[in-house]
Amino acid sequence: MKIQEVRLTPVAIPDVPLVNTKGVHQAVFLRTIIELVTDVGLIGIGESYGGARALNGMRKAAESLIGLDPFHLNELRRRVEQALPNAGGINAPTMLTQHQVVDAVYSAFEIPLLDLQGKFLERPLCDLLGGAVRDRVGFSGYLFYKFKKPNEYRGADLFGEVMTPNALLDEAKALVDEYGFRSLKLKGGVLEPTLEIETMQLLRDEFPDAPLRIDPMGAWRVPTALTVCDAIGDILEYLEDPVRGMDAMAELASQTHVPLATNLVVVEFEHIVQAYRNGAVQIILSDHHYWRGATGSIRLGEFCRAGGMGISMHSNTHLGISLAAMVHVAAATTNLTYDCDTHYPWTQNDIIKGGKLTIENGSIEVPKGPGLGVEIDADVLAEFHDFYVSQNLRDREDTDEMRRYIPNYERVVPRW
Ligand SMILES: [Mg+2]
Repeated sequence: MKIQEVRLTPVAIPDVPLVNTKGVHQAVFLRTIIELVTDVGLIGIGESYGGARALNGMRKAAESLIGLDPFHLNELRRRVEQALPNAGGINAPTMLTQHQVVDAVYSAFEIPLLDLQGKFLERPLCDLLGGAVRDRVGFSGYLFYKFKKPNEYRGADLFGEVMTPNALLDEAKALVDEYGFRSLKLKGGVLEPTLEIETMQLLRDEFPDAPLRIDPMGAWRVPTALTVCDAIGDILEYLEDPVRGMDAMAELASQTHVPLATNLVVVEFEHIVQAYRNGAVQIILSDHHYWRGATGSIRLGEFCRAGGMGISMHSNTHLGISLAAMVHVAAATTNLTYDCDTHYPWTQNDIIKGGKLTIENGSIEVPKGPGLGVEIDADVLAEFHDFYVSQNLRDREDTDEMRRYIPNYERVVPRW
């Protein structure tokens, strides 16, 4: 079995205005759908970032995949590194962390190669990662403060404006009702810390048994984070990236018993060593889109185990192919003890056959395969590719978008 053709299809999908430390989600989010066509008639599929740097990296490396045996992941890494010398990072300058183009491109192609291996062997993808240790993967309900969606944007809104603690509580109740989430995560760093403390306390009162977490994406200074820890530390499962940068995380960690998690300061294997030495984090979030694919994410789990750290899973706004891959990876990550993050409930469209994957009782059944166990609906893919072409957007820019709602908005991180 050899790769004969690489198809990269960028798509734009209607989004809703979810607010975060940097700004607000735009009218659409961008993804790239990957299809690797082989000489035996099998096609491996994957999904990755849709921003220009990642897409250009995939396009540059695509040619080098021709002739590759889908079982040779080390050779994939070699070819991607050779095709992308000194490629740098994929993120726009306004992002809070940087992922290496080489890691993102390798990751983007590894999933379709594993999908091909699974299809060839007629086994689910998780069997290639050591096998599933759970039949279902738990996800937390991902809560956001948000604006009302402008009427001129394509697609329906969800929940209208949610910019107060009580409105956020209503949003949480609706999501728990619909999906049965048993744990909840709030994207914080948006309102004054006192209001976010109040929000978490309302959630605790309403859902007394649910593990709770908050992720202000570096919006707080260390003294502010300590105030939050004093107020609600005892009701938190963990606190995610409360302060910005490894040094600030280490300073905070030395002064609180609340476990600190991150997807901003530890995003490469080299960072784990530094975080371990200075005690900056207790939980690392995996993500197969940049932790060198599914195999890298499993290795990350072993690093965490060795360092006495926990492992959870990060999410970017995504579609069902990414979600299927997340479920396979989570199912095979033996020491994953937290519910994973997912933006999926906020996405009302998908490009997979049969519509969206089902979240029930806060969890998703591990697809039976073969490979990922999901397939592309070619007509819907074409529709959202046409939408991408028609949109004048090639990169995510949450800060500019924020000025649509707050004209004099200035991005400041940390803000409080
Ligand atoms: Mg985060």
